[in-house]
Amino acid sequence: MKIEETRKPPSRILTATGGFLAGYSHSLNPYAGCSYGCSYCYVRKLPVAMFRGLEWGEWVHVKEGASERLRKELLSAKKKGPVTIFMSSSTDPYQPIEHRERLTRSLLETLAENPPEFLFVQTRSPLVVRDIDLFAQFGDNIRISVTIETDSDEMRKLFAPAAPPIAARFAALRKLSAAGLQTQAAVAPVLPSSDRFASKLAEVTERVCLDDYFQGDGSFGKRTEQLGIRAIYDQHGLSEWYSPKATAKVLERLQAVFRDDQIRLNQEGFAPS
Ligand code: SF4
Repeated sequence: MKIEETRKPPSRILTATGGFLAGYSHSLNPYAGCSYGCSYCYVRKLPVAMFRGLEWGEWVHVKEGASERLRKELLSAKKKGPVTIFMSSSTDPYQPIEHRERLTRSLLETLAENPPEFLFVQTRSPLVVRDIDLFAQFGDNIRISVTIETDSDEMRKLFAPAAPPIAARFAALRKLSAAGLQTQAAVAPVLPSSDRFASKLAEVTERVCLDDYFQGDGSFGKRTEQLGIRAIYDQHGLSEWYSPKATAKVLERLQAVFRDDQIRLNQEGFAPS
């Protein structure tokens, strides 16, 4: 699919947080829009996506030159108190065009010059391993969380066909963990998976976060219901997976492999730690 690209310097790059990200002082979105266009992504119904004239997943906006802006805002934010940053809340910081744009990398370079108290990087792209050298400069004040909602690439194709293949995400997480970084697999949202999923995750990370539509979409499942995601389950004979009971089943499988302190649930999995 052709992705429409626009670009402009941002008027601001750090956004004060609240709600789901209340534990952070700021969120940081290098891009607006997201070419992965996951079916269940609730950002598609937020104002940022509603007035674009294009479907969610069909456009990406590059916040050109954002690292200069970040340098200034970081200095000013640090004067006001501890700075903890969630990157990113309404896009994936490793868009396919990040290969050439290197915008997220430039923001990381700026952050490394004047590190925040904590940085949480959330992505589903294997490109994230490119920046291991920069992540290493943040010591224990960073966590890299890679979304792996299932171990089935068939399910990935059903729910998020434009997102990177599952095997590549496992490989990326393995590499990040092997580099000594604090990592996490974000099983978010829980998608249908095999009974070997938990043990496969344990081979690549020491921490997992589990989240589902019913706790994680900010409206106890109403937003997901409005997106019509239930129909995908029903049409493919997966209806039993569209339920908090499916989350409980996956949790039980994780508990058989991970210690309790290695498992985070819902919002807690995205908190600064
Ligand atoms: S990668 Fe994240 S921001 Fe992008 S469409 Fe998927 S859920 Fe939404």
